[in-house]
Amino acid sequence: MATDQAQDDSISDTYGEFRSRVERISSVEDAGGVLRWDQEVVMPEDGTPARAQQLSTLSSISHELLTADETGDLLEELEAADLDDEQAAVVREIRRKYERATSVPEELVAEISETTATAHPEWKQAKENDDFEAFAPTLEKLVELKREYAEHIDPDADPYEVLFADYEPYLDLETAERVLERLRDELVPLIEAIDGSSAEITTDAFSGTFDDDDQEALACDVLDSLGYDWSRGRLDTAPHPFSTGTQFDARVTTRFEPEDLLGSITSTIHEFGHANYTLGLPDEQYGTPLGQSRDLSVHESQSRLWENHVGRSRAFWDHFLPIARERFPELEAVTPEEAYESANQVSDDNLIRVEADELTYHLHIVIRFEIERALISGDLEVEDVPEAWNDKYEAYLGVRPETDAEGCLQDIHWSHGSFGYFPTYSLGSVLAAQLYAAIEADLGDFSADIRNGEFDALNGWLRENVHRHGKRYTTPELIEEATGEAFTADYFLEYVAEKYGELYDL
Ligand code: ZN
Repeated sequence: MATDQAQDDSISDTYGEFRSRVERISSVEDAGGVLRWDQEVVMPEDGTPARAQQLSTLSSISHELLTADETGDLLEELEAADLDDEQAAVVREIRRKYERATSVPEELVAEISETTATAHPEWKQAKENDDFEAFAPTLEKLVELKREYAEHIDPDADPYEVLFADYEPYLDLETAERVLERLRDELVPLIEAIDGSSAEITTDAFSGTFDDDDQEALACDVLDSLGYDWSRGRLDTAPHPFSTGTQFDARVTTRFEPEDLLGSITSTIHEFGHANYTLGLPDEQYGTPLGQSRDLSVHESQSRLWENHVGRSRAFWDHFLPIARERFPELEAVTPEEAYESANQVSDDNLIRVEADELTYHLHIVIRFEIERALISGDLEVEDVPEAWNDKYEAYLGVRPETDAEGCLQDIHWSHGSFGYFPTYSLGSVLAAQLYAAIEADLGDFSADIRNGEFDALNGWLRENVHRHGKRYTTPELIEEATGEAFTADYFLEYVAEKYGELYDL
């Protein structure tokens, strides 16, 4: 008895020491996040050299803390001990992070970071000049470096699988591949059917020119209406909208284009979904994985759930159109049905991912996924990327880019060396539909709530079933806990078949 007690005390001391180390690492990382937000949102143009140095210093401090022998010793000691579920989850998450950080040589990390630092302006220039060849050597180098990186982490695994796991550690690549193939096989004919449909839906409810300041006021209305907590958040603008922060301070950015009012509304709702997830993480677990969000697919499920299932629903436009009319009297003649239709038009001749609708979006992702896999495996040479890209757009979307700027150079991700990131966008949308179906099964039809601008029940469900768990469960466990089922594309495919079948008289 006495021995057990002594053992418990010693584990609890070890865990306490471990937890405070974990919290220090996470504070350093979060401080970097604030500096990056500042860089994107308010920093003057010439601030870059100092900021780059500050960020690099913070990143080496957190790397040193994480990879120190003390961290390894504490992990070993705790793994041999009898831990409760929460402690075990924290140890599991930090072990994974530790393994990844210690298996890649520091010189390689530095080389990747230097290459991406120069790759970014090179990509930007190449895109502006529509000159893929100018970017090709850097892309080739990044592919090689990332292959090498994957080799260090797991020499026996498919390197793409290792890279994908950086963004989505617990859904295996086979699952991702199965889901993406199913999306391709079922969405291509659905989009063709829509293209051949004679249904006429309203597409121009939001045409016109809209003042920036009024758009900003409306974005605040959107956030107010969805229940954003302004005491823990703020709204700013950024060229590529994002959200960042912690449960105490989760900030949203959006963008305003004079001729794209709908885009600013949907982008604000999307980023709200991300920030709202962060705000739902438990306060008392701040600084440990239990107070941090699960990975990119789950994060994207939250933004897509609000953007698509709420923000592109009829009920939402019944609720929100009158609010929008207060800011923009020119919308007086628009009906909620017209707003709904305009927010859901499908356009298969769009070449640009970030402008895609809810259906064609996934084909943009499938194309990137197939090209990335072939690039990393060596089946596709960098010089052949533009042709492979254009052929796939023709095959899946029936449209062929005329320039590489609107083809394979359009996205920033590869210049960051981010291979394996894209699939999480589609997986997140698919998961959003599965969660939404589970919410409807639990709460019944709550479109009346949405029509009244009441989001508490929906948000309460998300808090209870997703947000409050942080990283306590792995992604498949979290999905199973929240929905009672394994991850599946069934609900997404049912949702789009029903929604678009009705819109386009299929
Ligand atoms: Zn997102």
